[in-house]
Amino acid sequence: MDTNPLPRLGDCPGCSEEIRVRVDGTLQQHQRYGARCPGSRRPVGLLEPTFVRWLHANAPRKDGRANRVTRLAQMMFRGCTQSPNRTPADMTWTTAEELHEDWHRRLVQLSGCEDRREMDGKHCDWVCRDVETARRVYAALTAGADQDAA
Ligand SMILES: [Zn+2]
Ligand SMILES: [Zn+2]
Repeated sequence: MDTNPLPRLGDCPGCSEEIRVRVDGTLQQHQRYGARCPGSRRPVGLLEPTFVRWLHANAPRKDGRANRVTRLAQMMFRGCTQSPNRTPADMTWTTAEELHEDWHRRLVQLSGCEDRREMDGKHCDWVCRDVETARRVYAALTAGADQDAA
């Protein structure tokens, strides 16, 4: 499955949010904060490309209709309303396993987005299967990154 690579992220010196690191090792700049975020500096340290950060990096992709990882990312970080996009810092989960548990908690509470009359929070649904797909893709990327580093 075609997905975005593990993200290279650092702490933004302007706003304490995560920001992508360029190939040359300097930080990109947050657009939405304008001049407050300096960008173009070297990060103090790279942030670990956790599952939640990797999934978030897939949310801007344009293939959400056909790509289950993209669709999952957009569902988690953009939701079904007009509320602002969320970031990994807003999430209560870091790993795919935690996301799966979190989803079951949300299944019990969810209403509005979709018809979920049959959902009682006990059974896995297509989201669970997409989480498992994303977990496997992420695991393969992580394994590949380990090999590159060795
Ligand atoms: Zn910033
Ligand atoms: Zn499940």
